[in-house]
Amino acid sequence: MNSALDWRNEQPLLPGLTNPRRLCCSAFAAGLALDPERPVSQWADEHRILSKTSSAEPGRWRTDRTPYLREIMDVLSPTDPTQNVVLQKGTQLGGTECGNNWVGAIIDQGLGPTMIVLPTSNAAKKSSRTRIGPMIQDTPSLREKVREAKSRDSGNTILLKEFDGGVLILAGANSATELKSSPVRNLFLDETEEYPADVDGQGDPEELAEKRTDTFARRKKFRCSTPTITGGRIDVAYKASDQRKFYVPCPHCAHEQVLRFEQLRHETRKVHEVTDIGTGEVRLVEPDAPGAVERDTGELLDVHYECEACKGRIDEHIKPELLAAGKWIATNPGPDRAAGFKINALYSPLGWFSWRQVVLKWLAAQRDPSGTKLKTFYNTILGEAYDEAGESLDPHFLKARVEPWRMGGIVPAKCLLLTAGVDIQHNRIEAYVWGWGRDLESWLIDRHVIFGSPALDTTWQAVEDLLAKGYAHAGGQSLRITAMAVDSSDGVTTHFVRVFARKWSHTRRVVAVKGQAVAGKAVIGRPSKQDVNHRGDIIKGGVEIWQYGSDTAKGALYARLKIEPPKVGESIDWAAVQAGGIPGYVHLPGGLPDEVFDQITAEKRVTRYLRGQPRIEWVLEKGRRNEALDCAGMADAAAEYAGRSRLNWDRLEQMVNPGQRDLLVEAGKAGAPPADAKPADGGDVETSAPPPPASQRTAIRPPRRGGFVKNW
Ligand SMILES: [Zn+2]
Repeated sequence: MNSALDWRNEQPLLPGLTNPRRLCCSAFAAGLALDPERPVSQWADEHRILSKTSSAEPGRWRTDRTPYLREIMDVLSPTDPTQNVVLQKGTQLGGTECGNNWVGAIIDQGLGPTMIVLPTSNAAKKSSRTRIGPMIQDTPSLREKVREAKSRDSGNTILLKEFDGGVLILAGANSATELKSSPVRNLFLDETEEYPADVDGQGDPEELAEKRTDTFARRKKFRCSTPTITGGRIDVAYKASDQRKFYVPCPHCAHEQVLRFEQLRHETRKVHEVTDIGTGEVRLVEPDAPGAVERDTGELLDVHYECEACKGRIDEHIKPELLAAGKWIATNPGPDRAAGFKINALYSPLGWFSWRQVVLKWLAAQRDPSGTKLKTFYNTILGEAYDEAGESLDPHFLKARVEPWRMGGIVPAKCLLLTAGVDIQHNRIEAYVWGWGRDLESWLIDRHVIFGSPALDTTWQAVEDLLAKGYAHAGGQSLRITAMAVDSSDGVTTHFVRVFARKWSHTRRVVAVKGQAVAGKAVIGRPSKQDVNHRGDIIKGGVEIWQYGSDTAKGALYARLKIEPPKVGESIDWAAVQAGGIPGYVHLPGGLPDEVFDQITAEKRVTRYLRGQPRIEWVLEKGRRNEALDCAGMADAAAEYAGRSRLNWDRLEQMVNPGQRDLLVEAGKAGAPPADAKPADGGDVETSAPPPPASQRTAIRPPRRGGFVKNW
C-alpha cells in the first residue's frame, strides 16, 4: 500500500463536517489501534450482526451461507486494487448485504468519506432507518465508532453519520443537492435501475455522484441493482465489466457450470380422465382405460437440476456443498475493466428461495397474458435484463407454419371462445376473428375486409352480419363471437365507432377501445365514459371507451408466435398441430393473402433512449400496413374483456363440445336460461356460447368491468 495515496493525505478536509485536528488525532489513534485492513468478508464474519428488524436470519453474519458473496466483498476491500465493482443480481441472494458489509468495514476501519445513493431521498431515509441504522446499532464495533446524535451539531442525522476517520452520507438520486454534497472516497450506488435519467436538469445522477470521487486516487465504486431491460444501467455496466459468473462443479462429473434456469427440470402431476357422455361426469381412470384423456393438474411434483454435461440429477439439498465449491470466473477479462458479477436466484441459499419456488414463479409467469410477470421473472429471479429491444418477426417465418387446412373450415375442438378485433380506416373496415383455447392457445378463424366509408350504415351492417354469424364448431355446435373490440382511436372515425358500440352496448358483445402505446399497460384496462350522440352532441349515459394496451398485446403475440410447432424429427407434426392443446401456440390457417403476414410482422420493438434512459417503442416499418397486427391485438383485448383469464375452461368445453346436453340445460337452469339455449339435438340448433344480441341472461357474460365471468 502506498501511504502517500492514503485518502487522509489527499483530501483530509470536510468543511463543516468535522474538525481537522480531531480528525488527525482520531486517525492517528485509529492507525495505532486498528488491525491491519482486512478483507470485507473477514470483517463481516468477525463483526457483523444482522438485525432482527431487517434480516430473515438475524444474528452473526456468516459468509459461508452465501459463499458467492465472498469475492464481491473482497474486491471492495481496501487491500484490493479494484476501483469499480458491479453486481447484477436477482432477489433473495443477499446481494445488498455486500454493500452493507462494505459500509460496515469502512466505518469500523475508518476508511474515509462514503456515500450511499438510493433511487430517491425517501428511499435513502428509509434505508438509513431500516438497514444502516440497525446495522450500526446491532454491531458493537460500529456502535462505538459512530457518534451518537446527542445534539443538533453532533453531525449525526438520518442522512449523515460521522465516524472516526470519515463520514457516511445517504443521498437520493432524485436530488442534485444531495448528490453534490461533498467529496467521497467510497461510493455505493444501490438499485441503480430505478434512478431517474436526469436529476433536476443537471444531468445523470450516476455521473453527478461519481464526480464526488474525483479527488481520491484510491476510490471505490460499487454499483448494485436488479436489472430491468436490455440497455438499462446495470446491464450496460455489467456488459462493460469483466463479466464474472459463478461456476459450481457437478457432484457426479465435476464439470464446472453456471446454474441456469434452462437446466432446472420439473414434473407436474398428470391424471387420466374419462367423461361420461350421458351425465357429463368426469371420472379418474387408469392411463390405459378406453377413451382416457390425460390432463395436467399443474401440481408440481419434482424439481431438480440437470447437469449440462453428464445429465446427472442434482438435488437442491446439496446446494450448500455446491455453493461452497463454487468460484467466479471472468468471461470477459481485460485491463481496466470493472469487476462485474451476475447472479440469479438459483444460487439462493437453502431455506431462502427454493428451485421449486423458481419453477412456481415461472409457471405463474406463463399464465400471465400481459407478459409483465415474465419480465419480472427475468429480472428478479434470473437476474437478467429482459430483452425487449429490436424484436421483430419475419413474414416468411410465419408462412412456414401456415397449417394445411384453409380458413373458413370447422372451428377446432380445442378452440372454445371467439373474439374479434376491428380496425377502422377511412374507406374500409377490417375485421379479424380469433379463437381462443386453454393456456392462450389461439387460432385465426376469419378475416373480412369491408369496403365502404365508416360513415355509412351499410358498411356497419356487414359488421353486424359478422356478429350474427355462427361458426361451425368441431363439437357440432355453432359458435358466435363473444366479444368484439372496435378501434376508436382515429379522431375522424371515432364518432361512428361510438355510435356502433352504443347501439350494441346492451349485449356487452361490442366494446370500443382506444390503444395505449405504453409498455406494461394491461391488454384491457379501464373504461371511461364518453358521451356522444349521432350528431356529436353530448348526451347522458353515453358509450364506454376501454383502454387497450396495444404494445403489451403486440409483445404477447410476437412472443406466442415464436412458440415452435410440435415436430416429428425435422418436420412439423401436423396431426399434433391440428389436435391442438399446445399452450400459447398461434394457429394460422391456409388461404390467407400474403399481406396478412406482412401486416402481422410490420412492426418492430425497439429501444429508444430518452435522456439516456431506455424506452421501449413499437415502430411501424416505413411503407408497411399493420391492420392485421392491430386487429389481433384488439381480439386479444376482447378476449380479456370476455374474461378469458378467469374462465372455467372445463365447463366451457363441456358446453361447446358434443354430448353435454344435460350440462348445458343445467347451466341454463343454474342461471336464467339463454333465449336460444335449447338442448342441442343432432347439432341442428345453434347453441352459441356467446350471448345472443338481445339477451344478457347467458352463461358467458362479460361484466361491466374487470372481465370476470360470473358463475363460471
Ligand atoms: Zn455432471
